[in-house]
Amino acid sequence: MNCWGGSSVNSMPKTLATLVLLALASCASGAGAVPAAPEGARVGATAGAPGEEPRPAESHPSFAVDVRRRTTGFLDAGLWISNEIRGGWLDEVWREGDSLVVVRIRPENTPINNSPWYAFKLWSHEPDTLELRLTYDGGRHRYWPRIRTGALGAWQPLPQEAVRVDSSATAATLRLEVGPDTVWVAGQELFTSETFRAWNDSLAGLPHVTLSTIGTSPGGRSLDMLQITADPEALRHVFLLGRQHPPEVTGTLALLRFVEKLAGDSPLAREFRRHYQVHVVPLVNPDGVDLGYWRHNTNGVDLNRDWVAFQQPETRIVRSALLGVLERPGAEVWFAADFHSTNRDVFFTLDRSLETRPAGFVDRWLDRIRLDLPDYSVSDVPSGLDSPTSRNWFYREFGAPAVIYEVGDATDRALIREVATTAARALMELLLEELNAMGVQTTADEAMR
Ligand SMILES: [Zn+2]
Repeated sequence: MNCWGGSSVNSMPKTLATLVLLALASCASGAGAVPAAPEGARVGATAGAPGEEPRPAESHPSFAVDVRRRTTGFLDAGLWISNEIRGGWLDEVWREGDSLVVVRIRPENTPINNSPWYAFKLWSHEPDTLELRLTYDGGRHRYWPRIRTGALGAWQPLPQEAVRVDSSATAATLRLEVGPDTVWVAGQELFTSETFRAWNDSLAGLPHVTLSTIGTSPGGRSLDMLQITADPEALRHVFLLGRQHPPEVTGTLALLRFVEKLAGDSPLAREFRRHYQVHVVPLVNPDGVDLGYWRHNTNGVDLNRDWVAFQQPETRIVRSALLGVLERPGAEVWFAADFHSTNRDVFFTLDRSLETRPAGFVDRWLDRIRLDLPDYSVSDVPSGLDSPTSRNWFYREFGAPAVIYEVGDATDRALIREVATTAARALMELLLEELNAMGVQTTADEAMR
């Protein structure tokens, strides 16, 4: 929706309050009351560094996020800025002087982990260079800005010289070339439920892949699961989850490449699928992703802290679907991974005092990745079962070797692919070797790689 803001814009002073109220009054889409800008109301402090246990999340979003979709126009400058895109996120917008646009970024509710997501688009009548300042409330700059031209353009990171991060990291100033062609700006490539749907559908065209809807999120979006196997009666299972946390796009990129390898056409993958079933829920938090949240679901809860209490619909749906595939007597989970993003590539593994089945499997897996990628540093950070995460549920429930597969926010996309495909190949080789060691005949050997 383009919003003109009324004919009186030109005569108004360029103050925050006026422009915000104007934008809210004229441009808010959706029904219901529009929340007033919480003047002077600052959100609470950030809870914890990545990997650190945050304070317990509460189910009280601090404002009604769904009605904040809007397009703001600065008529005298011929400039428009909009968060009315899937995955879009920004709060107030105002101008300071002729060439600085300031954007305020707040989390959906607090307490919250530091993952200040932003995504919006802007365009202007005339080609122009402008400075746009992202100011973060309740977080510090984390995601290097990426841009594309038009809805179908390729995402590119903004060059180094076009981004200036304040020493406090509570603001970052971007230099942007704008014009009649819409420029999209976001913390990572936009990868929303629409993109997942296209990817799910492409895999579901394969004869050994079945796509099913396992439930519906509080926001009415479907939760989907892929089953990959050549033998739906196979008793050994692999579980893979992704995108519990909305901005963690690099984790998604790894999950895609990992799953594509398992579902691929190599002799190794074909043999693997004769003996194993893989179940993938690639998008556990579709509402958070499509609404542009920093971390939570629409109840304001971190889903990856709900795997003991199971108070949220999304975690209950996934739990029920995964338990459902294990109803067959003798069914076992032999590997599980949950894909995320943080400030670097790291595997959050289980403390080695916890015995898994197969025993010692994650060490063999990481060693195989090291062997295959000698120039890549495999980081292994073990921890116990204190946190109510999906990884710990996989272990508690099934005794499975389980990892949190974390990808750096800024990891090179080609490297993400290389590591994920190598990790998937190593997984298939080792799981087939487990069967060989038990006397089950497989055709796994070096020649299959
Ligand atoms: Zn995460």
